[in-house]
Amino acid sequence: MTKYVYDFSEGNKDMKDLLGGKGANLAEMTNMGLPVPHGFTLTTEACLRYLDGGDWPDGLIDEVEEHLVRLERTMGKTLGDPTDPLLVSIRSGAKFSMPGMMDTVLNLGLNEDSLKGLAHQTGGDMRFANDAYRRFIQMFGKIVMDVPAHAFEQALDAAKERKGPGSQDTDLDADDLRSLIDGFLEIYRQHTGSAFPTDPREQMRLATEAVFKSWNGKRAIDYRRQNKISDDLGTAVNVVAMVFGNRGDDSGTGVAFTRDPATGERVPYGDYLANAQGEDVVAGIRNTLPLAELEKLDPVSYGELLQVMHTLEMHYRDMCDIEFTIEKGKLWILQTRIGKRTAFGEWVMGHEMLQENLISEDEALLRVDANRLEELFKRRVDATGAEPIAKGLNASPGAATGKVVFTADEAQAMGRAGERVILVRRETTPDDYHGMIAAQGILTSAGGTNSHAAVVARGEGIPAVCGADQIKLDIAGGRFTATGTAVGAGDTITIDGFTGNVYVGELPLQESVLEKARQGDAEAREQEIWHAFERLMQVADARRRLRVRANADTPDQSTNARARGAEGIGLCRTEHMFLGEERVDVVRQMIFAETSDEEQAAYDRLLPLQQGDFVGIFRAMDGLPVTVRLLDPPLHEFLPDLTELSVQVALGRERGEDVAELDRILTKVRQLHETNPMLGLRGVRLGILKPGLYAMQVRAIAQAAAQVRKGGGDPQVEIMIPLVAMAPELQQMRDELEPVAREVFEREGVELSHLEWGTMIELPRAAVTAAEIARAAQFFSFGTNDLTQTAFGFSRDDIGKFVGLYEERKLVPANPFVTVDRPGVGRLMRIACDEGRSANETLHLGICGEHGGDPASVVFCHELGLDYVSCSPFRVETARLAAGQAAVGSAESASK
Ligand code: PEP
Ligand code: MG
Repeated sequence: MTKYVYDFSEGNKDMKDLLGGKGANLAEMTNMGLPVPHGFTLTTEACLRYLDGGDWPDGLIDEVEEHLVRLERTMGKTLGDPTDPLLVSIRSGAKFSMPGMMDTVLNLGLNEDSLKGLAHQTGGDMRFANDAYRRFIQMFGKIVMDVPAHAFEQALDAAKERKGPGSQDTDLDADDLRSLIDGFLEIYRQHTGSAFPTDPREQMRLATEAVFKSWNGKRAIDYRRQNKISDDLGTAVNVVAMVFGNRGDDSGTGVAFTRDPATGERVPYGDYLANAQGEDVVAGIRNTLPLAELEKLDPVSYGELLQVMHTLEMHYRDMCDIEFTIEKGKLWILQTRIGKRTAFGEWVMGHEMLQENLISEDEALLRVDANRLEELFKRRVDATGAEPIAKGLNASPGAATGKVVFTADEAQAMGRAGERVILVRRETTPDDYHGMIAAQGILTSAGGTNSHAAVVARGEGIPAVCGADQIKLDIAGGRFTATGTAVGAGDTITIDGFTGNVYVGELPLQESVLEKARQGDAEAREQEIWHAFERLMQVADARRRLRVRANADTPDQSTNARARGAEGIGLCRTEHMFLGEERVDVVRQMIFAETSDEEQAAYDRLLPLQQGDFVGIFRAMDGLPVTVRLLDPPLHEFLPDLTELSVQVALGRERGEDVAELDRILTKVRQLHETNPMLGLRGVRLGILKPGLYAMQVRAIAQAAAQVRKGGGDPQVEIMIPLVAMAPELQQMRDELEPVAREVFEREGVELSHLEWGTMIELPRAAVTAAEIARAAQFFSFGTNDLTQTAFGFSRDDIGKFVGLYEERKLVPANPFVTVDRPGVGRLMRIACDEGRSANETLHLGICGEHGGDPASVVFCHELGLDYVSCSPFRVETARLAAGQAAVGSAESASK
């Protein structure tokens, strides 16, 4: 028969699945001989059975009874006894801590009879007994019977008011509390239609059921969603003999951390509230004292607490978060767990524990959360008290504040004038690039985390919020509205790229110590966080097998990436070199060319511009591989928007202006217009249709490499052909382009130390025919942005509209454009790796989709055995760390 109930002495800390975190740790501490009140735990399995069948599973009631009788015997007290009653608390406790999300009932077992017994037990302290009873009615009513909390709170406030202005709950005497009890019992009767249950066993049954049910409460569900905790775990229920922190000034309750969870410093940290029960701390009824003050109030208990803290930290080898109560000078430990900590704190304490030899290098490496590293390099917004007017996707981390502008030109003009601006658009296009890089932040009402705006913003390190669809743009009116608030051009807003929140006004921003240190600030380099970062990154680099490259399109980005530890470039998107006003003009000249001479003239103008960029990039990455991708996006992206242009032409015509030139552009835009450009004339298809374009690019790459080589450098070149679906596409391109490169090298008389030709695997057909493609390729790079888009049939630009709901409904475990979808996209990748390698054993494998900087996806790439991951320069450290953690073992976040 299933065992549903465990005495604290029967469990241990590794039984969290069954006993929940609280139960498992109470058991561990009991067995360590720490002062833990007696009790027992109903398992998570009991909860799941209950929730499943809506009733107590067979045998559970008997088991509980058996343990209860045993507890009564151990304590020498019985539930409901009118002379010497046992009181218990009923505490929830799931596998993962879900602070405040589920329910707890204290002082259970009280009724009019045991109330007298409680007073008797405490030497006739009727005030204390009444206070315990009123708390019990209040908690039981609220939690078990859904009586609105404010009904009790109002009555309590009224009682304090009657006592005199400024009175606290501690000022109420026994008689005041007795009246309050009567009031509470009446409130209970009014709201539930029945009298307060007096049988302690019935109280316990109802309270246990309420805790079980609280697993499916809205708060708990929301918390699990946010923290990616499974709904299938259930909560355990702990029945614990009561100890009282509200028995006078020699009693109290508190929370202690063995280190400071915010700064990571090795100092005891916490709060203490004299003469109070635990829920008073949570409810903020009175202000708590800093833990250190306890030393003055009760030096003996304080000393004992420090000893327990030390014991626990040595035992768990991590920072512990402890709840304790002092009852008449006697210390009780009610709970411990591995404490949650800030991203900052986890680095500092991980490093210090390593220095103290408390943990090993590998353990220290696994103690930090790669998902939270990037935030340490960014400015943060202090949004205390501010309400967001909209929430979008957290597309590029960091916080920014500035004046709203609606066009890229304005952003550029105001940026040049030294103004801080936030560029607000429905979505961005390559045309907006100049404005984007002039802005402090980018906000779009449409688009997903892989939309143009998001990709460019991440590449440039500009905070961005995308797909904030509550924002309704009224560009003509020079404003937008969001949840009833109108914001005009020139008004200041603040965006938080960590949360996706958008605020009106200028919120305070905090600089990052790590970023300052990284840039060489001497004072910042003295700080513990920098030492921790350097040391743990060394460990990660020593452990990792995956190489880490960056997606970088310019010499500046390449330099930045290298400084962050990038070991090459995994994706240089050459289209970004086509951006900028002057270049877009040449690109347009190429698109408009009507004869091959005109087209060639445009290529001749483009070639030196591209060559110059490549020289810069090869120099910045000297000696390291640089994967240059030939042009990928559809050409219409370099032309103005069809609708806007049509309006311009129509208006111009109406005003009698000369619109011949605009009309010519419009005709071309119409010609190039595609219903579904993402699946249209782009990638290799462009190369096949416009052979001169790719030839020009290859010539620019080869000439740049030759130039750098001749200057004594070591350019390592990988030329990548995008969006290949079939092996012959790649083969034909290579047949056409390799001679172009060869011709340059022969002419220049140089030989490169490394030159490879390869392709992206970003279409399902390419993945499943990888063996054929591998025979024509020297490397594959997984373009998981397009691969995700085409595998799911989800438009990467429009996913913002529904991905939130998909995540909420658990249709997807995470946004598949952020974390590789292992069963689908991941399977395609695995097929491509296996088949590609078996057809070509020297094939190199990498990833350059946005997933290359996502820690969970990096772990997957490690498992696949890729050679490298490539990600935005700002995520290089994150990828290095995640790759190190993947090599060491499962990178379980220390904060979970
Ligand atoms: C991809 O598709 O994953 C990729 C890297 O290319 P892009 O994002 O430029 O389409
Ligand atoms: Mg792609």
